Amino acid sequence: MSTEPPSPSNARGRSDPIGPRGKVHLVGAGPGDPGLMTVRAVELIAAADVVLFDKLIPESALAGARADAELIDVGKIGGGKQVPQESTTALLVEKAQAGLQVVRLKGGDPFVFGRGGEEALACVAAGVRFEVVPGVTSGIAAPAYAGIPVTQRGIASAVAFVTGHEDPEKPETLVDWPALAAFPGTLCFYMGIRTLDRIAAQLVQGGRPADEPVAVVMRGTYGDQRSVRGTLANIAAVTREAGIRAPAIAVVGGVAALHDELGWLGAARPLGGRSVAVTRARAQASGIAATLRTLGATVVEAPAIRIEPLAADLPELAGYDLVVFTSVNAVQQLFARLRDARALAGATVAAIGPGTAAELRRHGIAADVVPERSISEAVLEELTARGPWRRVLVPRAEEGREVLPEGLREQGAEVDVLPLYRTLAESLSSDQRAAALGADYALFTSASSARYLYEAAGTLAGPRVVSIGPATSDAVRALGREVDVEAAEHTPDGVVAALVADVAAR
Ligand code: SAH
Repeated sequence: MSTEPPSPSNARGRSDPIGPRGKVHLVGAGPGDPGLMTVRAVELIAAADVVLFDKLIPESALAGARADAELIDVGKIGGGKQVPQESTTALLVEKAQAGLQVVRLKGGDPFVFGRGGEEALACVAAGVRFEVVPGVTSGIAAPAYAGIPVTQRGIASAVAFVTGHEDPEKPETLVDWPALAAFPGTLCFYMGIRTLDRIAAQLVQGGRPADEPVAVVMRGTYGDQRSVRGTLANIAAVTREAGIRAPAIAVVGGVAALHDELGWLGAARPLGGRSVAVTRARAQASGIAATLRTLGATVVEAPAIRIEPLAADLPELAGYDLVVFTSVNAVQQLFARLRDARALAGATVAAIGPGTAAELRRHGIAADVVPERSISEAVLEELTARGPWRRVLVPRAEEGREVLPEGLREQGAEVDVLPLYRTLAESLSSDQRAAALGADYALFTSASSARYLYEAAGTLAGPRVVSIGPATSDAVRALGREVDVEAAEHTPDGVVAALVADVAAR
């Protein structure tokens, strides 16, 4: 017999790739590094009608949510109070009963100290369907990113996950401290930073050696992960002195000493501990932001630019002997209006730079002309050498430089500029503004990204400025800010490389 409840009568009833409507998904978001989110988690976030999320989820975890999805912060602290568990549970059930796809997004794994079990029980009680998506739990991931295997042949053949939340000296504690002290393996404590001195004391009292290795990993797998090493005797003091705070995992056992040999993170993360403000339109920023995060940077995504497509009638493309693309957006916007790449079959195609050429390739077009320097003057030079041109189409933003169309016209070409989109400044919240201006670096990948951040934030003062190339640098200077670093290669990879080199040199 099936245990599935019948579909709620108010469900919208359409078939959906993520299952019937009116369902709760208890989803683990992993420990912090966005790369450690599961494919399923990403898929469900993208499809959700509602996402209820905690404080401790990877930055940008919600970036893939639908624009019309309802995002509810149920873990607010600092600004607001934490939403009580009962309200969260009630809200989950209510939203699912309204026929919505609900994602309950939690840090790490939803069933490891995540109260996911309670929420699942509430679903059962209310007759609401649910699904559980495990996540990479911080008790394994934080040690791993600190070079600590929680089990190791010859050192630990068992591992226990323990809450340190309870005061070990309270008589009513549910943790059996003597049994835990006798446990033959690694102990991973969650929520144990404030009680670390008492935890250590209890373990020593229970018979663990005072010089047993301990490591504490704060914000494990995040760009700003920190860790300290000590022993049961001194770890509380070491942690305090280093300013280690929650969230952190304390690993007790012989394996903790492997950190000294296996710590690998520093080498893999040349941007570790640095914050970088990226100001591009959402969809495009995510590529560069992901690269920066992989390198250890904390990325402040100031969504300063929005692309707004314009209503435009496409001319008959067959009549042009040259089509020039001066941005990735222009490629995307033109192809959004074309049936397929054959529309450009007869024309020579030029791209301003490698990023634009790559976008063309994604649409099945190999650009015929890509100048070495990604600026209009260089495109014009290359095209002049290969001319003359008869009819030229330049699909682009509403606002753009006239160097290229005018230069080609001077050579006798008939040039049609086709505005396909406009870029708009999005205003920043005061938090976003503070975060962007407080970042170590601001990285500009276009003149407009600099202009829009300036408009949104009122200044570019604060972060060191890294620019993708000469045109962007000129725009930054026009806003009264010097450029600290200009990329030698005018591509997203080039600008990231320039940033890494600057960090290394300083
Ligand atoms: N469900 C989560 C745990 C939630 S309890 C999981 O599976 O990871 C909250 C505790 O988890 C924090 O007090 C801290 O001990 C730990 N924690 C969560 N994220 C962490 C991280 N990135 N680094 C270190 N500890 C983390």
